[in-house]
Amino acid sequence: MKENRDFVKQIFCFSDKYYRSISIVRIKINQEMVLSVKTSFDAKTPFKIYKSLFDEHEDACFALDLEGNFILFNDAAEKLTGYPTKEALLMSFITLVHDDCLEITLRSFENVLQGNRESFDSAIYDKKGTRVSVSITFIPVSLDKQICGILGIVKNSEKSNYNPSFFDQNKVLEMIVNNYPLKVVLEEIIYSIKKDSNGGVCSIHLVNENGTTLTLGEAPKVRASWSTPISDKDKTLLGIFDMYFNKPRIPNAREKQMIKKATDLTCLVIQHYHAQEKINFLSSYDELTGLANRRFFDEQVNIAINLYKKEEGKLIGLLYLDLDQFKRINDYLGHNVGDQLLKKVAERIQQSVRTNDVVSRRGSDEFTILLDHVTKQEITLISSRVTDAFSMPFFIAGNEVFITPSIGISLFPLDGIKANELSSKADIAMYHAKKNGRNNIQFYHLNLDKKNHKRIEIENELRKAIEKNEFILHYQPIIDLSTNKITGVEALVRWENPFRGKIPPDEFIPIAEETGMIIQIGEIVLKKACVQMKKWQDSGFILSTISVNISIRQFFQPNLVPMIAEIIKETGIDPICLTIEITESMTMDVEIASTILHDLKGLGVNISIDDFGTGYSSLSYLKKFPIDYLKIDRSFISDIAKNKDDENIATTILLMAHNLGLSVIAEGVETNEQLGVLRNHRCNEAQGFLFSKPLPAQELKQLLSDLPLSFFCT
Ligand code: C2E
Ligand code: CA
Ligand code: CA
Repeated sequence: MKENRDFVKQIFCFSDKYYRSISIVRIKINQEMVLSVKTSFDAKTPFKIYKSLFDEHEDACFALDLEGNFILFNDAAEKLTGYPTKEALLMSFITLVHDDCLEITLRSFENVLQGNRESFDSAIYDKKGTRVSVSITFIPVSLDKQICGILGIVKNSEKSNYNPSFFDQNKVLEMIVNNYPLKVVLEEIIYSIKKDSNGGVCSIHLVNENGTTLTLGEAPKVRASWSTPISDKDKTLLGIFDMYFNKPRIPNAREKQMIKKATDLTCLVIQHYHAQEKINFLSSYDELTGLANRRFFDEQVNIAINLYKKEEGKLIGLLYLDLDQFKRINDYLGHNVGDQLLKKVAERIQQSVRTNDVVSRRGSDEFTILLDHVTKQEITLISSRVTDAFSMPFFIAGNEVFITPSIGISLFPLDGIKANELSSKADIAMYHAKKNGRNNIQFYHLNLDKKNHKRIEIENELRKAIEKNEFILHYQPIIDLSTNKITGVEALVRWENPFRGKIPPDEFIPIAEETGMIIQIGEIVLKKACVQMKKWQDSGFILSTISVNISIRQFFQPNLVPMIAEIIKETGIDPICLTIEITESMTMDVEIASTILHDLKGLGVNISIDDFGTGYSSLSYLKKFPIDYLKIDRSFISDIAKNKDDENIATTILLMAHNLGLSVIAEGVETNEQLGVLRNHRCNEAQGFLFSKPLPAQELKQLLSDLPLSFFCT
């Protein structure tokens, strides 16, 4: 009921909510030119148009809810009845109806509720109790084919003769209420004038969106033609109203008045439809990127499904694209950069697909793409074009931003026949694309559902694992290649669940990251590592450092530095024996990273950049950071002895690091060949299965006490 009332009100004057949402868009337009074609849009326009059409209508107009209560009341209605609007809005229409006319009025009311337009003679009491004869027109107002209110227009029959109206304004109003196309409404105006004028015809030309051209109408061969501009209150030209006569003559007073009326009404109608267009645009498109929005996209998917014709190999593909670690950009470079990035991403996606493919922004950094009438090969091709479009950095406000997408794909009719089924499957596939290392494309298949299930289970178990203290650490030796001695160890977390057994970090760390549990887990790891290091030192087992990995979530925790300081203090280790391993991704915002790293360094610990070479940090940044070590990622080491490119990357990193005075650690060293190449290029330290797997504390100590420290000489 309440909804219906609101809708009826909205038709005439727009609810506050609508009004406000339109103003917001306007702000965006001015600041960012999002909807550049819409720049002339006045936030208040729809409000004014409807209000003037309704309020300034020469007849008494009102809107009723389904129970006949007034919900809107115009000036003419105030004049006719003597009731101020405020009072009328507390009344029901029926209380005004004269007793003699109750029956016919109620019957008509019932008919309108069935969806019919009703016109009848009746009588009302005005506020003074005087009987006024009137003719009433009731027009049903519907929402989604359901009647939700009534528009009433009441003419004073006693006066109607001396206020001639040239054409049927009510009809035009009714057409607007019923959402007739602009062209049809304008035709009605033209038709009414023709009917009413003595041999005159008219045409209406509309100014296009840019205000540069007129849409041409038919220009009859005539002897006399009078043109009147149609402009809004700001004097913006909306169109031209032309009237033609076959005989040479000038307009008489009545015709002048008629033209004035027709031009005013046309102006209202045009403004109304312009506003409507904008609202339609807003309800179908995403404000920021101008791409389709979720609602419009879903509609298009349904249309594609309904029109689908079975044809050899042809499918409908639904792509879900999510930006990898977009939140990071928002958090560390600010929302403004985030927004700019989304706009540029939208452009690149749009440029990588075919003209008719529908691209939408679904949520913050989620995009969907509809590929109709495609083979699986074509889908793969288009998807890779989309991922390729991200290979170059985005330049935003002086930042060089790299971002990658993960894409999940579902296919109609193979994975589902309903739009929502396809979306959720594309979403599942997208999630797995992310898990498979990001910047990845993944088609949906049944096994993914099972994996999804497993993820939820792991997440639940992980919460309990923190309470039950199910984490232990393994330690992998790091070898100094100049002395061939163990110089330190890297602490690597292990989760031992009584039911699932050992769960590798790659399976649970990403989940812990996403859910934020990594913050607690990270603290547990750090404490355990420091306690262990202290024990070794106290027992005379000399290691220069213990390295601990910290995750991006931890890195940006405001209490990171105090937390580490506290643990150092509590466990009593010398901070110089602690190395914090960060990744390149944490250094994206150079300023913030630099502050955090200097604070960390202030504690006296070492800092190492892990997985170096896989991220995008520019080498020149490194100079700004207080770093001690670079760890070359294992992916470069694995083929270093076979692949010249990998060797080149590794040797470049070595050269550069040495120039910057940094020590380089090679990770994942598995063979003597790899070690040979590394030695040739004067790599400082190495870590890998060639020397030892990560081991529990006890086993590590055993290994070291059984063997001379130079055992690792190869
Ligand atoms: P990472 O920091 O790069 O750790 C090195 C990984 O390489 C370890 O995997 C180690 O077992 C493995 N590895 C070492 N030598 C070799 C080798 O010669 N060949 C191969 N193929 N692999 C080698 P692990 O323990 O499974 O850890 C995987 C990742 O999980 C780590 O990569 C790190 O990113 C993360 N991780 C582990 N422990 C922690 C932790 O306590 N906190 C955080 N935030 N992340 C952790
Ligand atoms: Ca590491
Ligand atoms: Ca690493």
